[in-house]
Amino acid sequence: MDFKLYVRDIEDFPSKGITFKDITPLLKDAGALQQTTKALLELVGDAKVDKVVGMESRGFFFASLLASQLNAGFVPVRKQGKLPGDTIGQTYALEYGSDTLEVHKDAILEGERVLVHDDVLATGGTAKATCELVERLGGVVVQCNFLIELDFLRGREKISNYQVRSLLNY
Ligand code: 5GP
Repeated sequence: MDFKLYVRDIEDFPSKGITFKDITPLLKDAGALQQTTKALLELVGDAKVDKVVGMESRGFFFASLLASQLNAGFVPVRKQGKLPGDTIGQTYALEYGSDTLEVHKDAILEGERVLVHDDVLATGGTAKATCELVERLGGVVVQCNFLIELDFLRGREKISNYQVRSLLNY
């Protein structure tokens, strides 16, 4: 299946000069949704996974589908102030300013094997902060797994100490 046929470019979103990769055409097509999940699972291979961590909000879609298929739990990483329980936070730099991601303190146990999934790897800031949260809770990152990698932003370099796998490269 040519998955790229189901990803469309939206110009000037969320701000002028940005070309946004929109994955909703892929999500709404039953066959593409199923085949994408299968292909992402193949990237994971036979690694043992206890938890799949997905990043707010588009990371949630496939992270939960992967968790279900891998017989693992799903853990959301969210923007500051969104999770109701006790959390730890990790702040990372953006082009202008900074952002903070949070995870529940009891979401991952010491020694658990964690698959990190997001829809898009861009500059890598989100993925790096997420891996740091996982490790601060004692988890072991077995793979950073993405539907889309924007090669020209070189996010992979920020998470070079982890195994990084992407289904589609642009
Ligand atoms: P990074 O931290 O790697 O710069 O940005 C990655 C985060 O921004 C991901 O959570 C991803 O959902 C979002 N993101 C950045 N660019 C795009 C894009 O073109 N399309 C989509 N769907 N998400 C994007």
